[in-house]
Order: sequence, then C-alpha cells, then structure tokens
Amino acid sequence: MRFTNESADAIGKTVVDLVSIKALSGEEAPMAEHVQSVITGMGLPCARDVHDNLLTIIEPETPGAAIDTLHLSGHTDTVVPVEGWARDPWTPFHSGSGDDRRITGLGTSDMKSGLAVMLHILKQFADKKIRLKRLRLAVSFTVCEEMPAKGKRNGVHDILKQQPGRWAVTTEASCDETCPTLAVGCQGHAVAKIQLQGRSAHSACPENGINAIHAAAKICARVEKMNAEYKTIRVLGDVRARPSATVTLIKGGAAGNIIPEHCELTISRRIAPGETTDDVEKELIELTGNLDGVSAKWTLRCDAPACATDPNGPLLKSAIAASHELFHCARTSWNRARTDLVLFKQAGMDVLNIGPGYTGQAHVAGEYVRLIDLPKSANLILGTIEKLDEWMAAGNQ
Ligand SMILES: [Zn+2]
Repeated sequence: MRFTNESADAIGKTVVDLVSIKALSGEEAPMAEHVQSVITGMGLPCARDVHDNLLTIIEPETPGAAIDTLHLSGHTDTVVPVEGWARDPWTPFHSGSGDDRRITGLGTSDMKSGLAVMLHILKQFADKKIRLKRLRLAVSFTVCEEMPAKGKRNGVHDILKQQPGRWAVTTEASCDETCPTLAVGCQGHAVAKIQLQGRSAHSACPENGINAIHAAAKICARVEKMNAEYKTIRVLGDVRARPSATVTLIKGGAAGNIIPEHCELTISRRIAPGETTDDVEKELIELTGNLDGVSAKWTLRCDAPACATDPNGPLLKSAIAASHELFHCARTSWNRARTDLVLFKQAGMDVLNIGPGYTGQAHVAGEYVRLIDLPKSANLILGTIEKLDEWMAAGNQ
C-alpha cells in the first residue's frame, strides 16, 4: 500500500489548491499553468498544447511499442455552478469528522480530486518509489469534457493523436460508502432534433389550421411511454444498464392568436450497450408517424455508442485483484452519463474508471469529496497499474 490514511490530508491539500482555481470549459489556462508547474516541479516532463491539454509520459524500464501504453486521464474543466450554492464554490472548506471528513467546493468530485490523485501518483514515479517494467504510462489532463468552447473541443481527441495505447483509466467519481468501485463503462448519447411543420390559421378558427404544438405534445407523450418501457440490460456481473429517452428542449409558436405552424423538439437519448443509431432511427420513425397532418423531419447526432470494459481483459482482472488485496472485495458500477471512456474505447482501448469522487456529487450544489476516499482510490489505481505491468512483464500479450 503506497498511500496511507495519513496521506489523505496531503492529497486533500492538492484538491483544495485545484478547486481554488476557476476552470470553466474553455477557460482552463490557469489550471493547466498550475498543474504543469506542479509536474515540472517534480522533475517530470509535461507537454502542454495550444488548447491547454497536458501530457506526461512515464517510460518503463524496458519500453516496447508505442501502443504498449496505459492512459491515465482526467479533465481539468468544471461545469458552471448550479443554483443553490450557499457559499462561494471556489473557496473550498473542510467539514465533518472521522470517515466523513469532507472538502466541499465546485469540482471536488467532478473531478479535481481525480486530478489530485493523478498528481500524487505521478509523484511516486518522480521520487523513483515505483518503476514499471514494461507498461508505459501516459498521464493526461484535458480540457472541455463538460462542454466544447469556442475553438476548443474535448482534449482527449488531441491526446489520442499524440499517443496510442491499449488501455485507459479515467478518474471520474466512483466511490460510495464502502470503497472505490470499478466503473465498467458508461452509456452513449444521441441527440435528435425533430422539426414539425403544420399550417397557420387565426386562432379563432383552429379547424382551419394544423397545430404543430399539439403534434409535439403527442410526441412528448410517446417519448414518455417509450422511456417507461425500456428493458434493463445486464452489462457485466451485477452491473445493469438501461436506455433512456426524454424531451429536453421545445420551441414553437409565433403569437398568442395564431395556430402554430412550427415546433421543434430535442430528445436526449442515452444509449445502452448493444444499441446502435439504427435502433434510435427506428424509434424516431415511430415517434413522428400519424401526427394528424403535421409533417416531421429530424436530424440525429450520435456522440458515441455506449462502452463497456472487456470482462475477460487483463485490465479488469488487474483491477479486481488489486481491489481484493486492498479492500477484500471488488465492486463494479456503471455510469449512466457519457464520460471520456467512450473516446478511449473508440480509439480501440479497453477502459475502466476509478476515482475518488463521491457518486452522485457531480453537478450539484454543495459538491463534496470525502478525504478517506483519496488514498483509497490512489491505491486502487496504482495497484491496477502495477498488476497490469506484472501481467505484461510475464510475457503476456
Ligand atoms: Zn467529469
């Protein structure tokens, strides 16, 4: 065990430093500046690109091909503070006692505590307390995960252009009251925009028009019914996923006395493993049929399909073994939101998420992280990396 319970305070201090730096999507430069100076201060190289993505490579004793790499990845941006913060979200504060000691502040769970753990893991390598035999580490701190900004996109794309790999571990929140879970994947996301075309008329004579908003109401009801009927899908072990669909935006009508001829709806569709864009397109055909004379056109943008960890791969086996050693159990979980795992998966890697953030704390007022989870997740990530390296060093492919 590399990180003792006492190290929670040192890692917590790093969390406080990071939370104090405002880093909304697209405005990550001060954060990149700080993280880069911490890493170079350890004596490690740290490349920074024009978009403020950071990459540190730790070479093993016997480096192999470029692809023999594990990415350890986290995003530096946070969402804007939601309503309901009782204090300044960028002034972190400590509360609680014992196992419930916490740090509250914007991004504590999502995901500056993950970044803090990554920095403390890097320090172990910088101080030569660990040297991997065969496995190369590519540790990246990337921008715009929460949303794109002007001239910037999710920085994982840029990191992947520079460095291939076989595995990726992200450090988003995965802790609950027991220990850090192994998050074995996440849902994909598709966004459909439906444009409805009716016919305007004076609202004194609705029978002369074709009401696009009434058609939209029918679609809303159909989406609600469809969502209620989705079946749960078994992903891995006792981890289950379930598709979802919901209307998130609606825009229509011209004036209070005109039968509306236009209405536009946006549907957010969360994709479970095994589902494809074809499935979503079939749903859209059904949703937009029989609208009493209103015609419908739609566009569909699929950010990514769902992604799941290989149940038989060396990454999950390493993580399960490390978790048993540390906590005498290995627990798995599933992320219903889309995370950067999908991008690493699309690049052909096997993926897993392990992080110190507390589940359910992302994007909420009063977001916190528990101090006890900082060393726990640092140990689990490092244990996973070391076991994977042993697997490689034993000559496995
Ligand atoms: Zn996040």
